[in-house]
Amino acid sequence: MLNVSGLTCGYGDLIAVDGISFGVRSGDIFALIGANGAGKSATMLALAGIIPVISGRVELNAQEITHLPVHERAKHGIALVPEGRRIFPDLSVDENLTIGGTHLNKSELNRNRKRVFGTFPRIADRQKQLAGSLSGGEQQMLAIGRAMMADPSVLLIDELSLGLMPIVTDECYRVLDELREENLAIVLVEQSTERVLQVADQVAVLETGRIVWTGSGSEAADDEAVVEAYLGSFGN
Ligand code: ATP
Repeated sequence: MLNVSGLTCGYGDLIAVDGISFGVRSGDIFALIGANGAGKSATMLALAGIIPVISGRVELNAQEITHLPVHERAKHGIALVPEGRRIFPDLSVDENLTIGGTHLNKSELNRNRKRVFGTFPRIADRQKQLAGSLSGGEQQMLAIGRAMMADPSVLLIDELSLGLMPIVTDECYRVLDELREENLAIVLVEQSTERVLQVADQVAVLETGRIVWTGSGSEAADDEAVVEAYLGSFGN
């Protein structure tokens, strides 16, 4: 459903991603892994419409969305959980969630808020609390919840587990599985974790802006070169 061909993008004059192609089906988790600076975040930001696509084409359900602005992409079903969560610390949990569904009417907002609270009871218990006072794990749950508020069909998650305690990482991966069951297409960026290979249907290794390896999660885990070069801290 999400088709990316020849995507080139970057920051100003810097080309961070150079002609990458991949496709992600509904109900699949596509993992993009690679070292610092490989271009993972740039890919996510370009797919979300936050930085421009220099060349190439992005299609969602056979409709071209390459140059659509962020809010139009959201209407097409693309939602981003950005690196570093980027929640609004001075707003409450509830207010942060509302921002995720700005194009929805009140009853849709209420329905989706209930769904988020069902998925993340820890967030449900803290609706009026300022988001900045949540723990790191709760902030990540809020960031995922905010993205879910928009009823996405494609979820882009940049660094799901960075800085999280193992028990919270487990919780986030459990939710990922649930979302996959709901037929979302998930693009997941992780830097250095064994976990991602266990859940990913497809893995692409990015190196200085180019895809240098693709395969299934289990093929990646069995490939010593992939493990050594890109998951140096495998097992952490
Ligand atoms: P990390 O895991 O460290 O976030 P990444 O794989 O997500 O790395 P990007 O953040 O996409 O990589 O960075 C790709 C390249 O773009 C790097 O060379 C980086 O230095 C550069 N870069 C990142 N952000 C900016 C920016 N705001 N302005 C200019 N160059 C940038």
